[in-house]
Amino acid sequence: MTLSENHGPQLVQVGQINGAQGSIGVIEASRHTGFDAKRLYFIHNIKTDHVRGLHAHKTLKQFLICLTGSVRVKLTNRTGDFEFDLASPAEGILIPPGCWRELSNFSPDALVAVFASEEYDETDYIRDYGEFVEWMKQTEPRPQIAYVNLDRQHDAIGLELERVLERSLHSGAFIGGVAVGAFESAFADYCGTRFAVGCGNGLDALVIALQALGIGAGDDVIVPANSFVASALAVTMVNATPVFADIDPRTYGVTGESVSAVITPRTRAIMPVHLFGIPVDMDEVGAVAAKHGLRIVEDAAQAHGASFRGRTCGSFGDAAGFSFYPTKNLGAIGDGGAIVTGDPDLALKMRMLTNYGSTKKYHHELLGRNSRLDSIQAGVLHAKLRHQAAWTERRCGLAEIYLSSLSNHRSIRLPQVPQDRVPVWHVFPIRVDADRRDQCIAFLNGHGIQTNIHYPVPIHLQPAYASLGHKAGDFPHTELAARELISLPLDAFHTEAELRRIVEVLQTF
Ligand SMILES: *Cc1c(COP(=O)(O)O)cnc(C)c1O
Repeated sequence: MTLSENHGPQLVQVGQINGAQGSIGVIEASRHTGFDAKRLYFIHNIKTDHVRGLHAHKTLKQFLICLTGSVRVKLTNRTGDFEFDLASPAEGILIPPGCWRELSNFSPDALVAVFASEEYDETDYIRDYGEFVEWMKQTEPRPQIAYVNLDRQHDAIGLELERVLERSLHSGAFIGGVAVGAFESAFADYCGTRFAVGCGNGLDALVIALQALGIGAGDDVIVPANSFVASALAVTMVNATPVFADIDPRTYGVTGESVSAVITPRTRAIMPVHLFGIPVDMDEVGAVAAKHGLRIVEDAAQAHGASFRGRTCGSFGDAAGFSFYPTKNLGAIGDGGAIVTGDPDLALKMRMLTNYGSTKKYHHELLGRNSRLDSIQAGVLHAKLRHQAAWTERRCGLAEIYLSSLSNHRSIRLPQVPQDRVPVWHVFPIRVDADRRDQCIAFLNGHGIQTNIHYPVPIHLQPAYASLGHKAGDFPHTELAARELISLPLDAFHTEAELRRIVEVLQTF
């Protein structure tokens, strides 16, 4: 039971156990009040014309019940005015914090009991009505538009998720088992690939893909300078060297040209990242790879369901890594990841690498690791996958609001996605001149709109990669994006009204 100052008081039916010899009323924290009572007041012997209460509490929650006789209870909080006539031990009122109360019309036999969530604290009282009105104004919640709304997503499918958790708990299989296999095969279908192998997280997915392809010490792998650090770290973790490529400033991904520009004699693979859910031109990258005999491992951690020329991201490379970090387009309720591939030998090798290099218990053919998708996450992901098409469509519809309403803005530049790509908008990036970017973010925050920056420091300029010897200016498009980009709120659970409000606020910037 939620009970905050932004809720009205609620009339609660109190359980009654009726027997031949009489009745018992039961009030339980778990079912009726939602709080553990620390105090019980009772009010009785009140003159009929007397009025009691006339105060509010800032944080205290109360449950009020008239056990014998009757009383009138008037309550006011920011959600409205309420009046209750209580005359039965079978119902009580749950009073949220921030309610002014007036108890009147006491019958001579009235016995009113009040359960309180905290012990007596004079500083929690507001005893003056004018002060109460002032307090309500001051604590008025500002409407906030969150960057993501996981709570809304989980509310929308709460019952499904609860069933998943309950089934997992009773299945007895917590690592592996049917739930994992079922999700893997559904996810492979979704990506248009033959195989999906669940693993612990997105970083491991990329590491395992590279390792399964035999990439290691002495090898170079091309990764975009503009990505989450995991893309490069995966290369580092197999003892290969990340070689950075610059991006196309309109789509934020590498291009055939930017990749070709950094090929070395030691280059073994390219890791295109479909950043923000905007697909990379895989024809261009594929042509470069074919020409130089390079492997492709797609980093599709932000691109579940995105497509390029009708083909789904994740199905282009030798293998692709996905992340199911909770805020990703398909997110678990913890960490999770998957590697997809069309190659059965590679799939088997990757599965072994996730599970101690073994297919048969206690027999280890490869030096593997422990990186498995657990059954609860697989069940949650499978349940969410059924909504993924609708959620993706919704993201695209919301993105359309930004794209159509901000296209003529004087100081905002939008991403430009060619017709042959269907993005899934993991992030909706806009650009504002570098010298006004912080001002724009502060302006939005001042209107209760949360934003993000993906990413403020390019990978080649991260201290962790200082040993590669890069300097500012090496990748101009990436570095400009780091200075100009603002990520606007956009997930499947923002409302159109929220997006319109963001647009309205931006129009006045
Ligand atoms: C999130 C992400 C990863 C890593 O995924 P984790 O599950 O957090 O390990 C890798 N690459 C990109 C582009 C990401 O956005």
